[in-house]
Amino acid sequence: MPHPSRLRFETTRFGNPVIVFGRFRFNRWSGSRGREVRWTCSRAGTGCRASLITVDNVVTRTKGTHKH
Ligand SMILES: [Zn+2]
Repeated sequence: MPHPSRLRFETTRFGNPVIVFGRFRFNRWSGSRGREVRWTCSRAGTGCRASLITVDNVVTRTKGTHKH
């Protein structure tokens, strides 16, 4: 579980929310509803399955490992 102080909530220049964790970036999954939000790795398009779950902007779960 990443320490909260190492996560940064940012907004891309396109206005999309992202979480920055070290050298990894996570994009908010567009299908998320309610308080629980899934964030998928920005490299998901290249096969990376790592993701985060947040509730009220606090990370509650991490899934998978980065492939890059
Ligand atoms: Zn990744």
